Amino acid sequence: MISDVFCKIIKGELPAEVIYKDDDFLVIKDINPQAPVHLLIIPIKHYDSLEDFLEKKDTALLGKALMTAHKVSHQVGIAEKGYRIILNEGEHGGKLVPHFHIHLLGGKRLGPKLVK
Ligand code: 5GP
Repeated sequence: MISDVFCKIIKGELPAEVIYKDDDFLVIKDINPQAPVHLLIIPIKHYDSLEDFLEKKDTALLGKALMTAHKVSHQVGIAEKGYRIILNEGEHGGKLVPHFHIHLLGGKRLGPKLVK
């Protein structure tokens, strides 16, 4: 069984501030927020990466991940002014947690693109 910090949160073994949950996704507040609103959209089933969705033939779930982010943006009041979605992949992408997730950031005018 693959385990990681997000799997532990999903199983209830670690605490998190849950914003939204359905059969496919858990949405939590990031523990180290980079904006007034910084949420993580996490699939309940474990996927390592985009490649993993391809291998498991579950690519339709990726569209649902984006729509979940959009739905939650309304719930937390950032839809009207807009938001940014970030997806980190691999070492060069700066991915830290080996469980696929997308970042939803907003709540203020964000700076120029986040590439240093
Ligand atoms: P990555 O760089 O992998 O795309 O981002 C992982 C994100 O998960 C980081 O923004 C980090 O702050 C967040 N994170 C790491 N551990 C925890 C945790 O235990 N709880 C929550 N809520 N967020 C976490």
